[in-house]
Amino acid sequence: MGVESDKPELQLFRHNVRRFVQNEIVPHYEQWEKAGIVPREFWNTLGCAGLLCVDIPEDYEGAGATFEFSMVVSQELGLAGCSALAGSLAVHSDIAAHYILNVGTEQQKTTYLPKMITGERVGAIAMTEPGAGSDLQGIRTSARQEGEHYVINGSKTFITNGQHCDFVIVVARTNPDVAGAKGLSLFIVDSDSPGFARGRNLDKIGCHSADTSELFFQDVRVPVTALLGELNKGFVVLANELQRERVSLATMAVAAAEGALALTVDYVKERKVFGGPLADLQNTRFKLAEMHTDMRVHKAFVNECRERFEAGTLDVASVSMAKLACTEMQGRVVDGCLQLFGGYGYMSEYPISRAYVDARVQRIYGGASEIMKEIIARDVLK
Ligand SMILES: Cc1cc2nc3c(=O)[nH]c(=O)nc-3n(C[C@H](O)[C@H](O)[C@H](O)COP(=O)(O)OP(=O)(O)OC[C@H]3O[C@@H](n4cnc5c(N)ncnc54)[C@H](O)[C@@H]3O)c2cc1C
Repeated sequence: MGVESDKPELQLFRHNVRRFVQNEIVPHYEQWEKAGIVPREFWNTLGCAGLLCVDIPEDYEGAGATFEFSMVVSQELGLAGCSALAGSLAVHSDIAAHYILNVGTEQQKTTYLPKMITGERVGAIAMTEPGAGSDLQGIRTSARQEGEHYVINGSKTFITNGQHCDFVIVVARTNPDVAGAKGLSLFIVDSDSPGFARGRNLDKIGCHSADTSELFFQDVRVPVTALLGELNKGFVVLANELQRERVSLATMAVAAAEGALALTVDYVKERKVFGGPLADLQNTRFKLAEMHTDMRVHKAFVNECRERFEAGTLDVASVSMAKLACTEMQGRVVDGCLQLFGGYGYMSEYPISRAYVDARVQRIYGGASEIMKEIIARDVLK
């Protein structure tokens, strides 16, 4: 993934991440998938290895690297078939940390960012509620000001890192008098706040080791300094930050497809059918040719989007196209790869089966494919 075009320092970083993934993650991954969660201390191991929040500036004790370096972590995890972990890390490093960096106060930045980099504090973001997923206008969690505090009430669901998080960025309604997305604000809520409770780790069909939970807020009192960004402007922050999340998801989609293809190439060379390697059949050759082309075309587009994102010139329609197209491509490719494994592909012990189930959620979270189409159509028809 990307190696051929990497600059030397990026190449070295990629090499180190790949080695870390092979030595410190792959041997344990099966066990973490079964447990439905990674060990809490693994976050500290990631921090020690310099793999968390790699593009946070040196002022906050980060490496001060570029977005491209952060994406290398996602790519290498995706390539190795560790999509669940890629998702957990993305929420922490590419989403939560950047909300704080981009709209946080100096005090919030110095309190949270250095500890997120070391893994001492794990971050989560809680937008979704039982009645508000694609349509965030339905958010009912409320934050009412009482003197120097806000009092938060409500519940969230499907929250990645919900079990491990030490703090969560919560989207809450601060102005009940205005309808829809107006009147939403963001708050940083520490998980040891009285009234905060985690539900159980939800049972999913894939991405098992990325813990996902309901979170409950009952009269949770946070100081006014916990407000993240401007009061009642939360939706604007969400809209801005979702761009980064979507480039990251598209990047992970391409890496996961590339990883699935590599597994499949190895398999078809070894598997014998009708007296010869599966790879010799024209159907196999054509399918692999089609899927590689599909992956490479999308890789070119997402690489362009990443460059434009770094340059600050990426428009909303293009990033939505990248999220839509790359995650749909991932679904097609892992399905085609699994087919070439035959019955073995349906067995949990074959990593291609994990690639298949892990891919499914990519078309749902971070803005479902249908929502991406709405955004793109709006741009096309404007
Ligand atoms: C594993 C996992 C991890 C997640 N992690 C997080 C997290 O960390 N934080 C967080 O806040 N959320 C998280 N989510 C929630 C995720 O973002 C939502 O599931 C997603 O936004 C979709 O919302 P929903 O599930 O309520 O589906 P709904 O919004 O009810 O959508 C149902 C269907 O209707 C379609 N639909 C909705 N609106 C339209 C429309 N206008 N036009 C056409 N079709 C439409 C959707 O595309 C979908 O196909 C996670 C979800 C999963 C499964």
